[in-house]
Amino acid sequence: MSQQKNPYQPQKGVIEKIIPETPGIKTFVVRPENGFSFRCGQFAELTVPGIGEGPFAMSSPFFKPELLEFTIQNVGYMTSRLHQMKEGDVVGVRGPYGNGFPLEEFYGREVLLLIGGVGFPPARALLYSLLKEKHKYPRILMCYGARTPEEIVYKYQIEDFRKKIELHLTVDKADKNWTETEGVVTVLLDKVRVNLKNSVAVVIGPPVMMKFGTLKLLDVGYKPEDIYLSMERKMYCGIGQCRHCLIDHYFICKDGPVFTYEQLKDFPDIWE
Ligand SMILES: Cc1cc2nc3c(=O)[nH]c(=O)nc-3n(C[C@H](O)[C@H](O)[C@H](O)COP(=O)(O)OP(=O)(O)OC[C@H]3O[C@@H](n4cnc5c(N)ncnc54)[C@H](O)[C@@H]3O)c2cc1C
Repeated sequence: MSQQKNPYQPQKGVIEKIIPETPGIKTFVVRPENGFSFRCGQFAELTVPGIGEGPFAMSSPFFKPELLEFTIQNVGYMTSRLHQMKEGDVVGVRGPYGNGFPLEEFYGREVLLLIGGVGFPPARALLYSLLKEKHKYPRILMCYGARTPEEIVYKYQIEDFRKKIELHLTVDKADKNWTETEGVVTVLLDKVRVNLKNSVAVVIGPPVMMKFGTLKLLDVGYKPEDIYLSMERKMYCGIGQCRHCLIDHYFICKDGPVFTYEQLKDFPDIWE
C-alpha cells in the first residue's frame, strides 16, 4: 500500500534569534530543518508544540530561504505562548502557502505600498523583492502608519529603507519627539503625487485601515484592478480544506492572500 504524505506534517524549525520590535510584537528568526523556498506575500503555518498553529507571513527576503523571519503580534492563545519561547526552542513550520504578490504585474510601474501596523511583515518581504530588481520599477513609495511611535516595527531599518525608497511615516498619536506626520495612514496619500496611469497600490494592515485605505485610493483615482490587497481571515488548515477563510468562492489560503480589489469588490463584509 502506498504511503501518502500527511499535508499537515510540519518540519522542525529552530528559533535562532528573537528580536523585540514593540511591547507586543517580536520577530522570530527561524531556521527550517529542510529548507523552505517561497515568494513574497506567501505565508507559513507555524506550530507551537502542544499548543497549536497559526498562519504568519514571511517577512524576510525570498533569496534567504534558509533563515525565515516572522514578525508576530501577541494577540491570543497561540501567539502568547510563542512570545514566551526562547532562542534555541523548536517550532513547526509548514508551507509555503498562498499565491504571493504577482510581481510580473508590477514590472514597469510605480509601486505604492500603503501599510498599517503589523501589515509591515509581508510588506517587508515585498520590499526586499522589489529592491532586488529595483531597475524594473520606475518608483517605489511606501506610506506606513502605526498607532504610536513605540509601535513602529523594524525601527532599526527605517533609515536604510529611506535611502532606497520614498518612505512616509505617520502615527495616530505622536509623542514629544515625533517630527513626522500625525494622523491615520490615509493622510499620507494627500502628500504623495503618483502617476495614476502607471501605478499600482498594495494595501496591507488591519481591516479598518484596509477599508479606508482602499476607499481613499479609489478616490485618488486608482482603478480597482490596480489595487492589491493582502487579506487576513481566521484560518486553520492553510490548504483549502477547512473552509474557514472563504470569501464567497475564494479561499484566502489558496487563491490569496493577495487579491485585487476588482476580484473582491462585489462581496459584502470583506473588511471584517
Ligand atoms: C495569511 C495570514 C498571514 C498572517 N500574517 C501575520 C503576521 O505576519 N504577523 C502577525 O502577527 N499575524 C499574522 N496573521 C494573523 C495571525 O495568524 C493571528 O493573529 C494568530 O493566528 C492568532 O493566534 P492566537 O491563537 O494567538 O489568537 P486567538 O486566541 O485565536 O485569537 C485572539 C484574537 O485574534 C483574532 N484573530 C485570530 N486569528 C486571526 C486572523 N487570522 N485574522 C484576524 N484576527 C484573528 C481572534 O478573532 C481574537 O480576537 C496572519 C494571518 C493570515 C491569515
